[in-house]
Amino acid sequence: MGKKDDIIERAARMIDAARKVVTLTGAGISVESGIPDFRSPGGLWTRYDPVVYATFESFISDPSKFWEMAADLHPLLENAEPNPAHLALAELERLGKCDAVITQNIDHLHQRAGSTVVLELHGTYRTGTCLACRKQHTYEQIKVSAFQGEIPRCLSCGGVVKPDVVLFGEPLNASVLQRSNELASECDLMLVIGCGLEVYPAASIPTYAKRAGANIIFVNIASTPYDPIADLILLGKAGEVLPKVVEEYKKITTGGRRHFGIWKSKDN
Ligand code: NAD
Repeated sequence: MGKKDDIIERAARMIDAARKVVTLTGAGISVESGIPDFRSPGGLWTRYDPVVYATFESFISDPSKFWEMAADLHPLLENAEPNPAHLALAELERLGKCDAVITQNIDHLHQRAGSTVVLELHGTYRTGTCLACRKQHTYEQIKVSAFQGEIPRCLSCGGVVKPDVVLFGEPLNASVLQRSNELASECDLMLVIGCGLEVYPAASIPTYAKRAGANIIFVNIASTPYDPIADLILLGKAGEVLPKVVEEYKKITTGGRRHFGIWKSKDN
């Protein structure tokens, strides 16, 4: 294992050398914004059994369970602010070094941080759709019920509104998944941040990138089943590690340590 500063510099140099950088983020990137991940100790699944609270089948048979859990989650989502990791990724985009963020998160924090190309693999909590008539509702329209743990009802037909998040057992949006897979096979560097990589098909995305020849950097506080495919593993909190990588990248590119040659006029 290399020294931490060396590893940060290697990550920055890999970003500098890359032609197309794509990022995949999971629940871990938002933990420092106060939204717990699901599987870590103390995570949401230690309090709510996903089979009862978060499968598509359980939602159809009894939506009240999901909305009961949502009453716990929504204040966290509403009060969360982008943390330094979200902000660092938005800055990387502005520096031309993050072509897209593919996220498993539903919390909207990448957009709020300033990232403009965000693919939400698992949907968003910001809208909901009536299961009966398909009318889409804004967050403002479902918020009061969501905070009270009640089932939001459709404003047109009174049907049950389901949030536009992908529940277990529910297919992902096909075009979002297809575009994510394309980005994975087009990039030459993928940053994989705060992803447990236990939920498919999202967990396959780094493998597609690797097979297409990309370098892979993991940022996580723990190991994952896919560690063997990583070219570099940055062990630490995303909110601490990513700003350091971006600072180092800026040092490399603006601090005079990278140049392509020096041109001198005849007079000098
Ligand atoms: P997960 O809970 O399986 O894994 C989270 C990963 O993040 C773990 O590997 C953990 O070690 C790591 N981690 C925790 N804190 C971290 C930190 N500060 N810095 C870096 N890494 C950290 O979550 P998952 O793999 O993303 O899958 C669960 C699914 O649940 C997601 O796909 C998502 O749809 C949903 N989810 C979303 C949110 C959200 O929107 N913020 C929160 C929880 C769950």
